[in-house]
Amino acid sequence: MNVVTSLADIKEYIEEACKKHGRNTEEVNIIAVTKYVSIDRAKQAVEAGVVDLGENRVEGFQSKYDALGNRAKWHFIGTLQSRKVKDIIEQVDYVHSLDRLSLAKEINKRATRKISCFIQVNVSGEESKHGMDPENVLTFVEKLKAYENIQVVGLMTMAPFTEDESLLRNCFRSLRQLRDNVRELGLEYAPCAYLSMGMSNDFPIAVEEGATHIRIGTKLVGKELE
Ligand SMILES: *Cc1c(COP(=O)(O)O)cnc(C)c1O
Repeated sequence: MNVVTSLADIKEYIEEACKKHGRNTEEVNIIAVTKYVSIDRAKQAVEAGVVDLGENRVEGFQSKYDALGNRAKWHFIGTLQSRKVKDIIEQVDYVHSLDRLSLAKEINKRATRKISCFIQVNVSGEESKHGMDPENVLTFVEKLKAYENIQVVGLMTMAPFTEDESLLRNCFRSLRQLRDNVRELGLEYAPCAYLSMGMSNDFPIAVEEGATHIRIGTKLVGKELE
C-alpha cells in the first residue's frame, strides 16, 4: 500500500464527483481511518498530506495520538462508552458518534472547551448499526441546549454495506435533508453545516450527495493489523 498514490486516487474521485455536482473540492475533508494500521502507516498518511485522522476505539486513538499529537486533527468515529469519555476528551477535535443524551451529558461534564460533535444517525434502520433514529434527531438537538460544551457541527451516518447505488444515494440524501432541517432551526450551538458520510466503498456517491467529511480506511491506508 502506497499512501501517496492512494491519496491521489481518492482525490481524483472527489474531483470528478464535485465537478458533476458543482461542488468545490475544498469542502470535502478526507479523514484517514487508521484503525486497521500501525502508527507507522498513520505517520505515512500525515506525511502524504492528510490532516485528519480517525480512530474508532479509545486504545487505538490514544496510541496514535501519543505518536502524532499535534501533527493531525483528531476524529473519534466509533461508539463511545460514557465512562471512556474522560480518556480522550482533551485530545479529540471532533466526536462523530454522539447518539444519546447520557453521552452528551458526560462530554459536557468532562470537557474544558466546546467539543465539535456530529450526531450519528441510523438512516438505514439496520439493527446492527449504531446511531439514533432519524425521527428523534430534532428533539435531541433541542435538548442539547442544556450542555454548553457541546457544539453540533453536523450529522454522521454509516450507509448499509451494499453495491446498490440507489440505496446508498437515498441514505446519503436522507441524512442531508435531516442536516438541512437541523440547520434551519438556526441554533447557535447547532450550526450543523457538515455531513460525515462515505467510506472506502461508497465515498464517491457520498461526495456527490454533499459529504463534507469522508472517512476512509481500507482504500487510503490499507488494512495491516487484522
Ligand atoms: C472503519 C470505519 C470507517 C472506514 O472504513 P473503510 O471501509 O475501511 O474505509 C469509516 N467510518 C467508521 C465509523 C468506521 O468504523
